[in-house]
Amino acid sequence: MADHSQKLIIITAPSGAGKTSVTKYLLEKISQIAFSVSATTRKARSNEINGVDYYFIGEEEFHKKIRENDFIEWEMVYEGKYYGTFKSELKRIWKAGKIPLLDIDVKGAIHVHEQFDNNCLTLFIEPPSIEELKRRLESRGTESLENIQTRLNKAVFELSFKHQFNKIVINDDLQVACKESEAVVKEFLGLK
Ligand code: 5GP
Repeated sequence: MADHSQKLIIITAPSGAGKTSVTKYLLEKISQIAFSVSATTRKARSNEINGVDYYFIGEEEFHKKIRENDFIEWEMVYEGKYYGTFKSELKRIWKAGKIPLLDIDVKGAIHVHEQFDNNCLTLFIEPPSIEELKRRLESRGTESLENIQTRLNKAVFELSFKHQFNKIVINDDLQVACKESEAVVKEFLGLK
């Protein structure tokens, strides 16, 4: 069982809102937190490392882990692509004396928040507009046109849940969004 009296931080956003950049910034700036590595059945991108960015596993193994109740949450984030957070990953980080930082999708974030309640800080990174989100996803160059459209449709849906989170950070200017997120996380951890 994961220990629900322990703290954790969740950062969520529609794909392309700048969540990964904010996550990296927070991990560099705040030594008390550590990245929670999720499991996924999607293929690794060329710059990704197994065990660092994700635990890349097959669908069969993913389903076995679901049956064995090894996930704190899991979602089919995109058609046929599963993502989930292992309970053992959170335990590993707490054991190292750190607070896990989860970069997960909106539905997953809501599920974890329900379980951890006040011990959990949830940040929602909001893109300035859907047009800007489209531009960012296109310039990233890692997704097909079809994938971009799927992600945009999902973004519109996800934006409707933003008020369920502790803090909404609008990523108009990345530097400002990073600083704002840093202040909220430090306050939650009693670091200032
Ligand atoms: P990507 O394929 O671009 O790495 O991630 C797609 C989406 O899946 C992102 O919104 C990311 O935050 C989310 N994601 C990553 N890991 C998890 C997880 O463990 N659980 C859930 N629910 N979503 C995740």
